Amino acid sequence: MRALLAVVLALSMLLQGCLSGVVGAIDEVVPERRGVPGGLTLACLMDDAFTSMVVEIDHAPNHAPEASTVDLLLERLDEVCSKPNGITVELQETSFEAIDTWTADDVRRVALDTRAAPPQDGDVLRWHILMPAGTYEDESVLGVAVNAADIAIFGDSIDDSENILRRPSAEAIENSVAVHEIGHLLGLVNAVYVSPRDHEDKDHPHHSSNDASVMYWAVESSSLGAIFSGTLPDAFDDDDKADLADLQARDLEATDQLWTP
Ligand SMILES: [Zn+2]
Repeated sequence: MRALLAVVLALSMLLQGCLSGVVGAIDEVVPERRGVPGGLTLACLMDDAFTSMVVEIDHAPNHAPEASTVDLLLERLDEVCSKPNGITVELQETSFEAIDTWTADDVRRVALDTRAAPPQDGDVLRWHILMPAGTYEDESVLGVAVNAADIAIFGDSIDDSENILRRPSAEAIENSVAVHEIGHLLGLVNAVYVSPRDHEDKDHPHHSSNDASVMYWAVESSSLGAIFSGTLPDAFDDDDKADLADLQARDLEATDQLWTP
Protein backbone atom coordinates (compact mmCIF):
# COMPACT_ATOMS: atom_id res chain seq x y z
CA MET A 1 0.00 0.00 0.00
CA ARG A 2 2.77 2.35 0.98
CA ALA A 3 4.62 1.53 -2.26
CA LEU A 4 1.48 2.25 -4.29
CA LEU A 5 1.09 5.59 -2.53
CA ALA A 6 4.69 6.42 -3.37
CA VAL A 7 4.07 5.61 -7.04
CA VAL A 8 0.91 7.78 -7.09
CA LEU A 9 2.81 10.60 -5.41
CA ALA A 10 5.69 10.32 -7.86
CA LEU A 11 3.27 10.27 -10.81
CA SER A 12 1.38 13.31 -9.55
CA MET A 13 4.65 15.20 -9.04
CA LEU A 14 5.69 14.25 -12.56
CA LEU A 15 2.35 15.48 -13.87
CA GLN A 16 2.69 18.76 -11.99
CA GLY A 17 6.13 19.18 -13.48
CA CYS A 18 4.69 18.79 -16.98
CA LEU A 19 1.92 21.28 -16.31
CA SER A 20 4.22 23.92 -14.89
CA GLY A 21 6.52 23.30 -17.84
CA VAL A 22 3.67 24.19 -20.19
CA VAL A 23 2.88 27.30 -18.17
CA GLY A 24 6.55 28.22 -18.31
CA ALA A 25 6.56 27.90 -22.10
CA ILE A 26 3.57 30.23 -22.36
CA ASP A 27 5.26 32.64 -19.98
CA GLU A 28 8.28 32.83 -22.25
CA VAL A 29 6.15 33.93 -25.21
CA VAL A 30 4.00 36.31 -23.20
CA PRO A 31 6.18 37.54 -20.33
CA GLU A 32 3.31 39.18 -18.47
CA ARG A 33 -0.44 38.88 -18.25
CA ARG A 34 -1.97 41.24 -20.79
CA GLY A 35 -5.51 41.10 -19.46
CA VAL A 36 -8.76 42.24 -21.00
CA PRO A 37 -9.79 45.80 -21.92
CA GLY A 38 -10.62 47.35 -18.55
CA GLY A 39 -8.04 45.20 -16.75
CA LEU A 40 -6.02 48.26 -15.76
CA THR A 41 -8.99 50.51 -15.01
CA LEU A 42 -8.26 50.81 -11.28
CA ALA A 43 -4.56 51.37 -12.08
CA CYS A 44 -5.61 54.46 -14.05
CA LEU A 45 -8.40 55.73 -11.81
CA MET A 46 -6.37 55.42 -8.59
CA ASP A 47 -2.90 56.71 -7.71
CA ASP A 48 -1.88 54.22 -4.98
CA ALA A 49 0.71 52.50 -7.19
CA PHE A 50 0.93 54.51 -10.41
CA THR A 51 1.43 58.22 -9.80
CA SER A 52 2.02 59.12 -13.44
CA MET A 53 0.94 57.83 -16.81
CA VAL A 54 2.40 57.67 -20.31
CA VAL A 55 0.37 57.11 -23.47
CA GLU A 56 2.81 55.70 -26.03
CA ILE A 57 1.67 56.27 -29.61
CA ASP A 58 3.59 54.26 -32.20
CA HIS A 59 2.56 55.31 -35.70
CA ALA A 60 3.49 54.32 -39.23
CA PRO A 61 5.04 56.97 -41.50
CA ASN A 62 2.29 59.40 -42.58
CA HIS A 63 0.00 58.04 -39.85
CA ALA A 64 0.91 60.37 -36.99
CA PRO A 65 -2.05 61.41 -34.85
CA GLU A 66 -3.56 64.88 -35.22
CA ALA A 67 -2.34 67.29 -32.54
CA SER A 68 -6.00 67.70 -31.56
CA THR A 69 -6.23 63.94 -30.90
CA VAL A 70 -3.24 64.01 -28.56
CA ASP A 71 -4.63 67.05 -26.71
CA LEU A 72 -8.08 65.50 -26.39
CA LEU A 73 -6.76 62.16 -25.11
CA LEU A 74 -4.78 63.93 -22.39
CA GLU A 75 -7.79 66.06 -21.47
CA ARG A 76 -10.20 63.12 -21.25
CA LEU A 77 -7.80 60.93 -19.24
CA ASP A 78 -7.06 63.82 -16.91
CA GLU A 79 -10.79 64.23 -16.25
CA VAL A 80 -11.17 60.73 -14.84
CA CYS A 81 -7.78 59.29 -13.81
CA SER A 82 -5.80 60.35 -10.75
CA LYS A 83 -2.19 60.91 -11.76
CA PRO A 84 -0.60 63.56 -9.47
CA ASN A 85 2.71 63.42 -11.36
CA GLY A 86 1.07 63.95 -14.71
CA ILE A 87 -0.05 62.24 -17.90
CA THR A 88 2.15 62.58 -20.99
CA VAL A 89 2.25 61.28 -24.55
CA GLU A 90 5.29 59.67 -26.19
CA LEU A 91 5.09 59.80 -30.00
CA GLN A 92 7.21 57.42 -32.02
CA GLU A 93 7.32 56.89 -35.79
CA THR A 94 7.65 53.15 -36.29
CA SER A 95 8.24 50.82 -39.23
CA PHE A 96 5.69 48.10 -38.58
CA GLU A 97 5.89 44.80 -40.42
CA ALA A 98 3.82 45.06 -43.61
CA ILE A 99 0.31 43.91 -42.69
CA ASP A 100 -2.54 44.93 -45.00
CA THR A 101 -5.29 43.31 -42.96
CA TRP A 102 -4.85 43.28 -39.19
CA THR A 103 -6.32 40.70 -36.83
CA ALA A 104 -6.64 41.22 -33.08
CA ASP A 105 -3.73 38.79 -32.62
CA ASP A 106 -1.60 40.85 -35.02
CA VAL A 107 -2.32 43.93 -32.91
CA ARG A 108 -1.43 42.05 -29.69
CA ARG A 109 1.82 40.67 -31.14
CA VAL A 110 3.00 43.92 -32.76
CA ALA A 111 2.03 45.88 -29.65
CA LEU A 112 4.23 43.59 -27.59
CA ASP A 113 7.11 44.05 -30.07
CA THR A 114 6.89 47.82 -30.26
CA ARG A 115 6.00 49.05 -26.79
CA ALA A 116 8.97 50.72 -25.08
CA ALA A 117 8.13 49.42 -21.60
CA PRO A 118 5.55 47.18 -19.92
CA PRO A 119 2.15 48.59 -18.89
CA GLN A 120 3.08 48.46 -15.19
CA ASP A 121 6.48 50.17 -15.26
CA GLY A 122 7.47 51.02 -11.69
CA ASP A 123 5.19 53.88 -10.63
CA VAL A 124 4.30 54.68 -14.26
CA LEU A 125 1.19 53.27 -15.94
CA ARG A 126 1.74 52.94 -19.69
CA TRP A 127 -1.08 52.62 -22.21
CA HIS A 128 -0.21 52.10 -25.83
CA ILE A 129 -1.76 53.09 -29.15
CA LEU A 130 -0.73 51.62 -32.51
CA MET A 131 -1.54 53.69 -35.60
CA PRO A 132 -0.50 51.43 -38.49
CA ALA A 133 -1.19 51.52 -42.21
CA GLY A 134 -3.76 49.01 -43.46
CA THR A 135 -7.18 48.04 -42.16
CA TYR A 136 -8.68 45.77 -39.53
CA GLU A 137 -9.96 42.37 -40.74
CA ASP A 138 -13.47 43.78 -40.36
CA GLU A 139 -13.01 46.89 -42.50
CA SER A 140 -15.88 48.68 -40.79
CA VAL A 141 -13.82 48.80 -37.57
CA LEU A 142 -11.94 52.09 -37.11
CA GLY A 143 -10.34 51.22 -33.79
CA VAL A 144 -9.94 48.24 -31.50
CA ALA A 145 -8.91 47.58 -27.89
CA VAL A 146 -7.20 44.16 -27.66
CA ASN A 147 -6.11 43.83 -24.04
CA ALA A 148 -5.70 45.86 -20.84
CA ALA A 149 -3.24 48.38 -22.29
CA ASP A 150 -3.07 48.13 -26.08
CA ILE A 151 -5.30 49.62 -28.75
CA ALA A 152 -5.01 50.20 -32.49
CA ILE A 153 -6.50 52.97 -34.61
CA PHE A 154 -6.81 52.48 -38.36
CA GLY A 155 -6.19 55.83 -40.02
CA ASP A 156 -6.70 54.57 -43.58
CA SER A 157 -10.22 53.39 -42.65
CA ILE A 158 -10.87 56.70 -40.88
CA ASP A 159 -9.87 58.62 -44.02
CA ASP A 160 -12.22 56.41 -46.06
CA SER A 161 -15.05 57.12 -43.60
CA GLU A 162 -14.89 60.86 -44.20
CA ASN A 163 -17.71 61.78 -46.55
CA ILE A 164 -17.56 64.38 -49.31
CA LEU A 165 -18.97 67.09 -47.06
CA ARG A 166 -16.29 66.31 -44.44
CA ARG A 167 -19.06 66.24 -41.85
CA PRO A 168 -17.59 64.85 -39.73
CA SER A 169 -14.01 65.36 -40.87
CA ALA A 170 -11.35 62.63 -40.66
CA GLU A 171 -9.71 64.66 -37.90
CA ALA A 172 -12.92 64.74 -35.86
CA ILE A 173 -13.41 61.00 -36.42
CA GLU A 174 -9.87 60.25 -35.24
CA ASN A 175 -10.44 62.41 -32.14
CA SER A 176 -13.58 60.46 -31.20
CA VAL A 177 -12.26 56.99 -32.08
CA ALA A 178 -9.17 57.57 -29.91
CA VAL A 179 -11.26 58.62 -26.89
CA HIS A 180 -13.70 55.73 -27.53
CA GLU A 181 -10.91 53.12 -27.45
CA ILE A 182 -9.39 54.69 -24.33
CA GLY A 183 -12.89 54.40 -22.86
CA HIS A 184 -12.72 50.64 -23.46
CA LEU A 185 -9.37 50.52 -21.61
CA LEU A 186 -11.22 52.27 -18.79
CA GLY A 187 -13.69 49.36 -18.79
CA LEU A 188 -16.62 51.21 -20.36
CA VAL A 189 -19.41 50.14 -20.55
CA ASN A 190 -19.84 47.21 -18.11
CA ALA A 191 -16.68 45.44 -19.35
CA VAL A 192 -15.24 44.85 -15.86
CA TYR A 193 -18.14 45.95 -13.64
CA VAL A 194 -21.93 46.08 -13.58
CA SER A 195 -23.28 49.62 -13.63
CA PRO A 196 -26.19 50.54 -11.37
CA ARG A 197 -27.23 52.85 -14.23
CA ASP A 198 -29.07 51.35 -17.20
CA HIS A 199 -26.92 52.69 -20.04
CA GLU A 200 -25.38 49.69 -21.81
CA ASP A 201 -26.65 49.12 -25.35
CA LYS A 202 -28.16 45.61 -25.26
CA ASP A 203 -27.45 45.13 -28.98
CA HIS A 204 -23.84 46.31 -28.72
CA PRO A 205 -22.21 44.96 -25.54
CA HIS A 206 -19.80 47.30 -23.73
CA HIS A 207 -21.19 50.35 -25.53
CA SER A 208 -23.42 53.17 -24.35
CA SER A 209 -27.05 53.39 -25.41
CA ASN A 210 -26.69 57.20 -25.45
CA ASP A 211 -25.71 58.51 -28.89
CA ALA A 212 -24.36 61.64 -27.19
CA SER A 213 -21.68 59.55 -25.41
CA VAL A 214 -18.34 58.86 -27.09
CA MET A 215 -18.98 55.23 -26.03
CA TYR A 216 -21.88 54.90 -28.50
CA TRP A 217 -21.13 51.87 -30.72
CA ALA A 218 -21.17 53.71 -34.06
CA VAL A 219 -18.27 55.97 -33.03
CA GLU A 220 -15.78 53.19 -33.92
CA SER A 221 -17.66 52.12 -37.07
CA SER A 222 -17.16 53.27 -40.65
CA SER A 223 -20.95 53.62 -40.85
CA LEU A 224 -20.76 56.61 -38.50
CA GLY A 225 -21.26 59.05 -41.39
CA ALA A 226 -24.75 57.64 -41.93
CA ILE A 227 -25.62 57.81 -38.22
CA PHE A 228 -24.17 61.13 -37.14
CA SER A 229 -24.76 64.16 -39.32
CA GLY A 230 -22.24 66.77 -38.35
CA THR A 231 -20.70 66.60 -34.91
CA LEU A 232 -19.52 63.39 -33.28
CA PRO A 233 -19.52 62.90 -29.52
CA ASP A 234 -15.97 63.06 -28.16
CA ALA A 235 -16.62 62.97 -24.40
CA PHE A 236 -17.84 60.51 -21.79
CA ASP A 237 -21.42 61.22 -20.71
CA ASP A 238 -22.67 61.58 -17.12
CA ASP A 239 -23.41 57.85 -16.76
CA ASP A 240 -19.94 56.88 -18.05
CA LYS A 241 -18.35 59.34 -15.62
CA ALA A 242 -20.53 58.15 -12.74
CA ASP A 243 -19.41 54.54 -13.39
CA LEU A 244 -15.75 55.60 -13.31
CA ALA A 245 -16.28 57.69 -10.16
CA ASP A 246 -17.95 54.71 -8.43
CA LEU A 247 -15.07 52.43 -9.44
CA GLN A 248 -12.54 54.99 -8.22
CA ALA A 249 -14.35 55.25 -4.88
CA ARG A 250 -14.55 51.43 -4.72
CA ASP A 251 -18.34 51.70 -4.45
CA LEU A 252 -18.50 49.48 -7.52
CA GLU A 253 -16.58 46.21 -7.72
CA ALA A 254 -14.10 45.87 -10.59
CA THR A 255 -13.35 42.37 -11.93
CA ASP A 256 -10.46 41.04 -14.04
CA GLN A 257 -8.01 43.61 -12.66
CA LEU A 258 -4.27 43.15 -13.29
CA TRP A 259 -3.65 45.57 -10.41
CA THR A 260 -5.75 46.18 -7.32
CA PRO A 261 -5.01 48.39 -4.29
ZN1 LIG B 1 -16.26 50.23 -28.98
